[in-house]
Amino acid sequence: MITINPKKPGLKNIIILATGGTIAGTGEEGKTTNYQAGNLDIDTLVSSVSNIDKIANIYGEQIANVDSNDITIDHWLTLANKINELSKQDDIDGFVITHGTDTLEETAYFLDLTVKTNKPVVITGAMRPSTATSADGPLNLYQSVALAASELSIGHGCMVVFSDGIYSGRNVQKVNTFKTNAFNSIEFGCLGYMRDNVPYFFNKSIKPHTVDSQFDISGLNKLPVVSIAYFNIDADPLILDYLAERSEGVVIAGAGSGTFSSNWLNEIKNLEEKGIPVVRSSRIGSGIILRDETMDRYINCIPSYTLSPPKARILLSLALTKTKDFSEIGKIFSEY
Ligand code: GLU
Repeated sequence: MITINPKKPGLKNIIILATGGTIAGTGEEGKTTNYQAGNLDIDTLVSSVSNIDKIANIYGEQIANVDSNDITIDHWLTLANKINELSKQDDIDGFVITHGTDTLEETAYFLDLTVKTNKPVVITGAMRPSTATSADGPLNLYQSVALAASELSIGHGCMVVFSDGIYSGRNVQKVNTFKTNAFNSIEFGCLGYMRDNVPYFFNKSIKPHTVDSQFDISGLNKLPVVSIAYFNIDADPLILDYLAERSEGVVIAGAGSGTFSSNWLNEIKNLEEKGIPVVRSSRIGSGIILRDETMDRYINCIPSYTLSPPKARILLSLALTKTKDFSEIGKIFSEY
C-alpha cells in the first residue's frame, strides 16, 4: 500500500520502481564511457527531469540499484508482486520501471507475462550515464511517465519506451551496444512513437499478456531453472548434459532456423530420457522457427517460433510452473 497525496489533483498518479542501470549511472563529467551504473537514487533521478511534475504526480520507490546484469529472479518476483498489489489501488494509475539496458528486454517480457493488470507498465533506461553530455535518461524517463499516464496505453501489456519509440515487452530487443537508439523490435516494428509527452499508437501485439496470461507468480519464491546453450561449429554436445544436470529445461541458441550438429541432435535423446524439454531458438535475432521433422525427431524438442533465446528461456521457465508435459509446453509456445 502506498499513501497517495496528489500534489496536483487533476494529474494521474504514477509509481516509479527504480532498479539501477546507466540511467542512474555517474562518471566523469561529459563522458559516456567508464562510468558506474546504479549510483543515483530515484529521487535524484526524478529531480533531474525538468517538467516531469507537470505531467503526473510521481511516487518513487527504490527496488534495487544495480547494473542490470545483476538483476535476478528475486528482483523480477518483487517487481511483479509489487505491481500486482499496488495496481489494486484505485488511486494508482500506472507504473514506470527504470532498468539497465543490457537485460531490460528480459525483465520486460517477464513482467508482460506475469503482471495482472491493464494499467500501463512501462520500462525504460538510458545508454548514457546521467553525467554525460546529452544524457538520454531524462527524456526517456519523461516520456515513460507520460506514456504510463496516458489512457491510450491501457491494454498493451508491459511496454518499453526508448529514444522516442514505444515497443512491446514481448518483441523488444537491444540492437546496439552503445548508441542511444538502442532498441527496436526488428520485423515486428514499434507499437508507436512518443513525441514529447504524447503517445501515437499504430500497432498492437495479439499475443496473450498481463490479464490474459495464464501464468501466476503469486506465492512463488523461485522459478524452474532453465539454461541456454549456444551452438557454434564444433560446439561440444556435452554442454547439453552439463546444463541438463542443473536445469529443468534447456533452450538452444541454434544456428539459422534453430539448427545444430548431428552430435547435438544425438545428445538431445539423453535429455528426452531425463524428461528435460529442449526449446530450439536461434542466434539470428529475427525470423520464425517452426516444427521440423529432422530437428524435432525427439518428443522433448519444441520450436521457439519468434522468441529469442533469453525470451524463450523465460517462457519455458513459466511453462514449467504449469506442466512438465512436452506437448503441453509445445502448445504454450505456439500460443505465446
Ligand atoms: N551494464 C549496465 C546495465 O545494464 C549498463 C548498461 C545500461 O544500462 O545501458 O545496467
